[in-house]
Amino acid sequence: MTLPSTYADRNCSLARSLEIVGERWTLLIIRDAFFGVRRFGDFATQLKIPRAVLTNRLKLLVQEGVLIRDEEATGGVEYRLTAKGVGLWPVVRAFMNWGDTFYSPSGVKRAQRHDQDGGLLDREGRCQDCGLAVPVPEIRIEPGPGFCRTDSDLDPVSNAINTPRRLLEPIVRPRTPSAGEGELSATRSTGRAD
Ligand SMILES: [Zn+2]
Repeated sequence: MTLPSTYADRNCSLARSLEIVGERWTLLIIRDAFFGVRRFGDFATQLKIPRAVLTNRLKLLVQEGVLIRDEEATGGVEYRLTAKGVGLWPVVRAFMNWGDTFYSPSGVKRAQRHDQDGGLLDREGRCQDCGLAVPVPEIRIEPGPGFCRTDSDLDPVSNAINTPRRLLEPIVRPRTPSAGEGELSATRSTGRAD
């Protein structure tokens, strides 16, 4: 399921990293984990991806230590970023910046602020008010001028993500039976899904 490595790739850590995060959907799963999504059913609803694909991606990310799968969580199984996973924030931020620059003429899709003082972050993640390189849990994201609301914002997970919130802060909502069933059926699925 990983990309084939070539001789040249052996000396390239970009190629090595892409074996982990370069598959379709993976960075979006990681983005949602930064935004507070933790449950299988919530990733599935938010990303609208086939459950078997989501199962495969989560499995690799857990295997590589990017996410931890916590079966003891109070609301059921949760997937959370490890320190290794949080280390991917500059990658996610850089892609967001790049997309805003070249594909979002009306401005940034999501603004990032220092939660303590409300200062906007510059492109390197430094608070323009206090000058601090803001740690990930103190970054607040909120819809920016380029943000377009859509019908899918009506679902509770999207709605939570699109409300100003700190990164990594869990999205709390009542557990639905379908989320649990979805995970079980996805886990049982063995078909190749991408
Ligand atoms: Zn600040």
